Amino acid sequence: MSQNGPTILRVAIPSPLRRTFDYTLPEDLRLKLDDHQSLPGMRVNVEFGRRIVVGLIVGVSQCSEIAKDKLKDISDIIDVSPIVPPDLFELFIWSANYYQHPIGEALFTALPTLLRKGRPAVAACIPHWKLTHLGTELDPQILKRAAKQQKLIDFIQQNNGCVAESEINSLFSSAVRNQLKDKGLIESVLIEQKVKTSTDEILNQSSLKLDSQQQIALNAIDLHSFNSYLLEGVTGSGKTEIYLQAIEQALRYERQALVLIPEISLTPQTEKRFRDRFNATIVTLHSKMTDNQRLEAWLQARSGQAMIVLGTRSAIFTPFKNLGLIVMDEEHDSSYKQQDGFRYSARDLAVIRAQRNNIPAILGSATPSLESLNNCNQGRYKHLTLDKRANSAKAPDWSVVDLKTESIECGIAKTTLDAIDATLKAKQQVLVFLNRRGFAPTLLCHQCGWTAQCQNCDSKLTVHKARGRLICHHCGYQQRQINQCPSCNSTDLMAAGEGTERSEDFLQQRFPDYPIVRVDRDSTRKKGALEAFFATADSGKPCVLVGTQILAKGHHFENVTLVVILDADSGLMSADFRSHERMGQLLTQVAGRSGRGKISGQVIVQTHQPEHPVLDQLFNQGYRPLAQQLLSQRQQGQLPPFRALAVIRAESSFPQLAMDFLSLARQISQQHTVSIAGIDLLGPLPALMEKRSGRYRFILQITSANRSNLQQLLTEVAGALEKNKKDHKLRWSIDVDPQEL
Ligand code: ADP
Ligand code: ZN
Ligand code: ZN
Repeated sequence: MSQNGPTILRVAIPSPLRRTFDYTLPEDLRLKLDDHQSLPGMRVNVEFGRRIVVGLIVGVSQCSEIAKDKLKDISDIIDVSPIVPPDLFELFIWSANYYQHPIGEALFTALPTLLRKGRPAVAACIPHWKLTHLGTELDPQILKRAAKQQKLIDFIQQNNGCVAESEINSLFSSAVRNQLKDKGLIESVLIEQKVKTSTDEILNQSSLKLDSQQQIALNAIDLHSFNSYLLEGVTGSGKTEIYLQAIEQALRYERQALVLIPEISLTPQTEKRFRDRFNATIVTLHSKMTDNQRLEAWLQARSGQAMIVLGTRSAIFTPFKNLGLIVMDEEHDSSYKQQDGFRYSARDLAVIRAQRNNIPAILGSATPSLESLNNCNQGRYKHLTLDKRANSAKAPDWSVVDLKTESIECGIAKTTLDAIDATLKAKQQVLVFLNRRGFAPTLLCHQCGWTAQCQNCDSKLTVHKARGRLICHHCGYQQRQINQCPSCNSTDLMAAGEGTERSEDFLQQRFPDYPIVRVDRDSTRKKGALEAFFATADSGKPCVLVGTQILAKGHHFENVTLVVILDADSGLMSADFRSHERMGQLLTQVAGRSGRGKISGQVIVQTHQPEHPVLDQLFNQGYRPLAQQLLSQRQQGQLPPFRALAVIRAESSFPQLAMDFLSLARQISQQHTVSIAGIDLLGPLPALMEKRSGRYRFILQITSANRSNLQQLLTEVAGALEKNKKDHKLRWSIDVDPQEL
């Protein structure tokens, strides 16, 4: 560090402004620092407005645009070294720029909450449980009648007598732990970290012998350099087994692995498979954890103690000591794109991160996104395919029920009911899929045609019969169910259409001798409901599982042999350019739950439009030909992934404000298209749902064949818009590579 003049620190602060703020480093704090320590990536406390806030140093300089006597000193330095390694810090900055998000907000979104608040980033405080002297010399008689306690003791013993609390919590209840503590057999200790010695065996359970196509795929993966692999394998073809074996190889090189999955709480089976396989510290990172648990897992990854991190979207920002592999399961899942605030795509960042670290990224799916398929077509990703199920299970047979020609009761055709009946009688399980929760999507007046609308959104209220309420699924508005039409006073109101609650009711009446279990966002709100659902499904006993897309998420139920898709038409109506891709993925994923065990499966699809080209292609040829067809339509229409797309969104309770703002955005963009070539503008247009939560929403679409031209334009426009936005009644944002319009 130079001794001439004060050192100026560029500090990112969580604020909506697209800039950093300059502060000086006072002499007394400078003396506390190690001279060779690089400052970017360290947190500081600074005065901002009238508050002291936590900021992150992103740069150091000797000069500032602001006069030296106007610059404030930083108040304190929180860290003694950067909180994340340089490679990750660069990724943070890269993503803030690429997604055109204010740098301070972006950087702070990428950190665990407690670090945003200034909590020390040191792992001095990881709770562990270790055997006491009494526990080590345990008399085998003492726990003779307490099998669970004995299991926990054995577990701790196998792990050299000391195990992290987080690991114990994932396998044992706290009651069991406390019983051992009360007997004086184990005690809690805080230790910095416990590193496994490299002689420890990596596997708990030997890996499966791969079939030939799995072996070819695994052999193609080079663990020593960057490559993106698209592992396209039908559901049940053994993709997870390939992830496990690739990770095993990474662990043998003493490298860590990051595994991204769309949702953890809904797929406890996945986590269990990883824990069963590896004798290595595995931490999970997802939104249901407490802030403390998240920080602890984050620190364990950073220190290298956790060998495998299993997490959802935001886990892409986890620091590692020595990352060797990134795996992303169900890469097509839209949950990988954050839809508000810092709108990053974890899928795209996974590839960027792998490239910067020179390690492989494996993206797996039965129904790959059109983006990834296009990347394979262009030679950017290596395409690995598994086209048959492992375990010699056969692919299910599809059949189409034309709702126009059938008698229907509560949305279910007679043919379908007969098939359900036959399956239950054969002691097998049925899965009924309907992507609409609630009892009915509409409350309709039979006399005058009035329907119950949300007062805040362009949307109808859904009838939730059991709760006696009408609820908006877009903004959460709710009211008590009414018995009289507010328009004509008639009491002839009817719940029109079907939701999962109604299907459940109807099936329960129709098949009273079998359990009918519903799973959707409403049913799983009750604690233990999801566990009960899995218990019923896993028991293998005949039953009907009714639910929304939660059912499509990678579950493996051996005895489900019939999958019914109640309404294939709902996905055909949307104006979103991705809707057919999404529908193809969803239907294929749901269908893939059928016949995963010994008995082969069947899929029944109910539709009013069996001749619709998308459905026709999906049923008769499968997802891949459909995807290639959709890709060529995208190419003709000059849509992503053939052109880069960004949208500027604006919303306000005063529609004119939002429109005017986007007109201005258009004008500014147009000025720049003189110097930046190949940009097309479309809009301002109303968003697909124009009014939502009381605000009118508009978008300006900007496309270009050249991604860096688009980036350049967005940077210019964002800067100019920020200066022009004066009205606090308006919200605006930029969405790069948007998933929805
Ligand atoms: P996917 O991830 O593609 O859905 P999985 O890896 O979950 O597929 O495999 C589906 C089923 O087949 C699982 O029960 C798994 O244990 C089994 N399986 C996978 N690979 C093999 C193999 N090589 N030999 C035997 N069984 C396998
Ligand atoms: Zn009426
Ligand atoms: Zn609403």
